[in-house]
Amino acid sequence: MDWNCPHCGLRQVVTNAASDNGSLELRVGGFAEAGDAKYPRLISIVSAIRCAAEDCKKISATVDLLVGEHWDYGHAKIEGSEFYAAQIYPGKHGKPFPEAVPAACLEDYDEAWAIIDLSPKSSATLARRCLQTMIRDFCDIRERSLFAEIETLERRLAEDDLPRGVEEETIEAMRALKNIGNLGAHMTERGGEILDVEPGEAQALLALIEMLFTDWYVARARRRERLARVLEIDASKNDGTSNG
Ligand SMILES: [Zn+2]
Repeated sequence: MDWNCPHCGLRQVVTNAASDNGSLELRVGGFAEAGDAKYPRLISIVSAIRCAAEDCKKISATVDLLVGEHWDYGHAKIEGSEFYAAQIYPGKHGKPFPEAVPAACLEDYDEAWAIIDLSPKSSATLARRCLQTMIRDFCDIRERSLFAEIETLERRLAEDDLPRGVEEETIEAMRALKNIGNLGAHMTERGGEILDVEPGEAQALLALIEMLFTDWYVARARRRERLARVLEIDASKNDGTSNG
């Protein structure tokens, strides 16, 4: 089974040694999810997988709830229909990103994901703050509002003077979000005011942030790594010549 570790993001094949599950049959009388099942039994299955990455090795756990029956004649067998499945550990959060992304941004981003269902308003507020932190940090642009900062980026795009590592496409994406009704209006607010959002606005902002994490910070870290390798090769060549 192919699986992505929710902690480190590594795609891997899960082995028997790294995974296990157990089930529990609970009898609580007839319950709504069971419909008209003759023997309404709640089966919960908890599954755990250990990540294979040496520098991760973290556990992830999920729970599945079924209406069904648990047979155990020689070997356990479960029959039933599932009505709920959820990851119970780690909790809901954003995609994993490497350390190249500033910790303050990752914290806002993760928290924005964690509360997106509970409070889209607070989620969008955190996402806006995260976007503003990035524009200030990566682009070194600081204006009175996020809206004004994006306008500065648009102006610099028009003048062909974008900050290093910032592509035209990312400015296009920001411009698109800035022009969405509520979202654009909120960007003119200063600081962390919590304002109403339309459904999906927090997700749209978080998708933009994910794109910028990759296009700005991860790409810059890779460029620096490649450059360091080139310099290393160059240095070892020079060593060789001087010794030989
Ligand atoms: Zn992992």
